[in-house]
Amino acid sequence: MKLLILAPPAAGKGTQATLLSEYYAKPHLAFGDLLRQIVKEDSEPGLVIANKMNSGEFISDQLAWQIIKKHLEKNSNGFILEGFPRNVAQAQILEKEKVNLDAVVFLNVDIEELKKRHTNRLLCSKCGRNFTKKENDKCPDCLIPLTKRSDDKKDVFENRLRVYQKETEPLVDYYQKQGLLLNVDGNKKPVEIFQEITKVLDDKK
Ligand SMILES: [Zn+2]
Repeated sequence: MKLLILAPPAAGKGTQATLLSEYYAKPHLAFGDLLRQIVKEDSEPGLVIANKMNSGEFISDQLAWQIIKKHLEKNSNGFILEGFPRNVAQAQILEKEKVNLDAVVFLNVDIEELKKRHTNRLLCSKCGRNFTKKENDKCPDCLIPLTKRSDDKKDVFENRLRVYQKETEPLVDYYQKQGLLLNVDGNKKPVEIFQEITKVLDDKK
């Protein structure tokens, strides 16, 4: 199972990818997490990436491909991918490199709902887990207070939304035309979304 999760920022990509990763017993490849790891290494590419991430920008398509490539090769019998490709040029790289996806899950969430979810999102600075405000104000594992992610400030978020609409949203059409798209109502509860996705994918087999 080679799955791509496509969704606007704060739409719950990470949650669905984690659930699907467990369900299909395939690794969750989150491009954003891979980037954060490189940033932590404090190398020169790490600094370049950190600057771009803090302003909500994207790194170049070729650098993005170089980063994801070895993870895709290592997991050639299946993965739950998110965060790459984030534009049509990157999708074309995947095709050219013969990485054939089985399906692309699109979490379709209203813009107003995204803004609301974003306002409620908190992060544990130690382990990196995401929480909503309702759930917790402390990380249950690390027992430290949760903070806002540095890329979660309002103007940065709205910039990310605009970039998403311009760069990433065209992928919905792109994968629709290839017959790979599974368009899911992402406004529902996470467990309902998960059940809808697995029902459709399991019926397809
Ligand atoms: Zn924690």
